[in-house]
Amino acid sequence: MSTIFGKIIRREIPADIVYEDDRVVVFKDINPRARVHLLVIPKKEIASLFELTPEDKDLMGHMMLLLPQLAKAQGLNAGFRTQINTGEGGGQEVFHVHIHLLGN
Ligand code: AMP
Repeated sequence: MSTIFGKIIRREIPADIVYEDDRVVVFKDINPRARVHLLVIPKKEIASLFELTPEDKDLMGHMMLLLPQLAKAQGLNAGFRTQINTGEGGGQEVFHVHIHLLGN
């Protein structure tokens, strides 16, 4: 089922998109908890890490490899934090896989 992040991917609602390629969209979190707070999401609508399948290996690897590039582009040369909330028990609010990238 599609979420608000699906709407962002399809440009049905606005977002401050900082990076996009054929598999991924990256945009600023609407409620930032650090100077830089990005959300890295796959265009494929996967609800959470629980729903990953082996065919998602390359996609998830692609997202991981993007993180240091995005961080450096945002000036986070000293380092950054990442977070993936999974399921209601993990505090996930939007059920479309996303990696939080945070730094000051
Ligand atoms: P999570 O708890 O990991 O599911 O986090 C969802 C995140 O999405 C929160 O940090 C929200 O601030 C963020 N968020 C929700 N709606 C939007 C939106 N329309 N644009 C940007 N970020 C959003």
